[in-house]
Amino acid sequence: MDQLHTLSVAELAARLKKKDFSAVELATRFLARLGGNPHNAFLDIDSEVTLAQARESDARLAAGTAGPLEGVPIAHKDIFVTQDFVTTAGSKMLQGYRSPFDATVVQRLRAAGMVTLGKLNCDEFAMGSSNENSFYGPVTNPWDVQRVPGGSSGGSAAAVAAYLTPAATGTDTGGSIRQPASFCGITGIKPTYGRASRYGMVAFASSLDQGGPMARSAEDCALLLSAMCGPDPDRDSTSLDEPSENFSAKLGDSLQGLRIGLPKEFFGEGLAPDVRAAVDAALHQYEKLGAQLVPITLPRTELSIPVYYIIAPAEASSNLSRFDGVKFGHRADQYTDLIDMYKKTRAEGFGDEAKRRIMVGAYVLSHGYYDAYYLQAQKIRRMIADDFQQAFTQCDVIAGPVAPTVAWKLGDKSDDPVANYLADIFTLPASLAGLPGMSVPVGLGAGGMPVGLQLIGNYLQEAQLLNVAHQFQLATQWHTAKPQRVAA
Ligand code: GLN
Repeated sequence: MDQLHTLSVAELAARLKKKDFSAVELATRFLARLGGNPHNAFLDIDSEVTLAQARESDARLAAGTAGPLEGVPIAHKDIFVTQDFVTTAGSKMLQGYRSPFDATVVQRLRAAGMVTLGKLNCDEFAMGSSNENSFYGPVTNPWDVQRVPGGSSGGSAAAVAAYLTPAATGTDTGGSIRQPASFCGITGIKPTYGRASRYGMVAFASSLDQGGPMARSAEDCALLLSAMCGPDPDRDSTSLDEPSENFSAKLGDSLQGLRIGLPKEFFGEGLAPDVRAAVDAALHQYEKLGAQLVPITLPRTELSIPVYYIIAPAEASSNLSRFDGVKFGHRADQYTDLIDMYKKTRAEGFGDEAKRRIMVGAYVLSHGYYDAYYLQAQKIRRMIADDFQQAFTQCDVIAGPVAPTVAWKLGDKSDDPVANYLADIFTLPASLAGLPGMSVPVGLGAGGMPVGLQLIGNYLQEAQLLNVAHQFQLATQWHTAKPQRVAA
């Protein structure tokens, strides 16, 4: 019983059903671990809400009406709105904000029986790669508290890695599930764009934003994803009209003959040798499992950086215009007239990175520049998606690093936005194409820090992708490696 907090989602669900322990006992155990807010991972905790949900789970377990994940705790990235917890999106703009409704993803996980532990820290409006853009302070990496956990889902990754929760939600616009999962040594998947409803996700760049699960194994991610996904036609017009799927269905398939494409652009000069070594070792393991490595090319990989950093800010500048002090969140105390109120509210409420993106976005959309920047970026985005389709004629999945380096030191890149943007190079292409991508821990690099392997699948191939990760996790132990500092 001592090790309850280290059990997987699958084990917890099974043992709760067997009544080995109750949902209230389990929730109590995790709430005790959250005391002092380790790693600054949480932004809101409310033990009464959590325990009330756990009691409901115990009642359903007793009555035989339990959902598939009944009583298993989860925490949500603070981008998902929740009725029972504050939602800030990591911004001063939404300090203390309470939503009148739950995001669809939150609702669906509740309907599967999950118990909410609280809300997780993230970069402001999910803009960032280090969690240092949160108004509520950075999150520290459980593997080395001098280092960043990655971002923007940094709180989610740190909380799972430090065994503060068995599972978390994240959102990924340009890598924010995959990169923090990689930096913290956990498993995360961004499904195909449109799989998980965006309803109730505070919008950053709507044509890219996608929610997904973060946990300690592919098996757990499959269970969580099955509960999260499904059409939501009345509330998210871009949600796919695909029936909810059992994403565990392919776990167990052999990898014999699987063709893994290796884009040469992902293995060039910018890749740190320690990351390369861990990725190469993982690829060798895949060969042992029967897979075949195929050289491929994604020729516009480098262009994904300028393309993303035009399209994402353009959409952000539009999405963030709703924060004007009238309907949501912060309003300046003192102002002379309406325009002055807007200006002061936005000057006070947004942090530097959000302001930077609003300005870049307004610029690339403005008359005279639209054609030169925004329109060009959209055209290249289409070409990037086509390059993937070309590649998938030669391979079944694509593999490479998630990020060029392991997690960097806090402060190292905090006043250099471009250095942060460049480090997104390997996650942006799949985001722009809307493809599913995941991060799987495959080793330790410089400073003993985790390295993630990125796996990218074709549209709607999440079940296959999860099995490709699962087979690796059956054959190796990297996903069970524990940060030394984490109390057993
Ligand atoms: N690092 C990228 C950015 O800053 C991606 C963020 C995300 O996926 N939410 O925009």
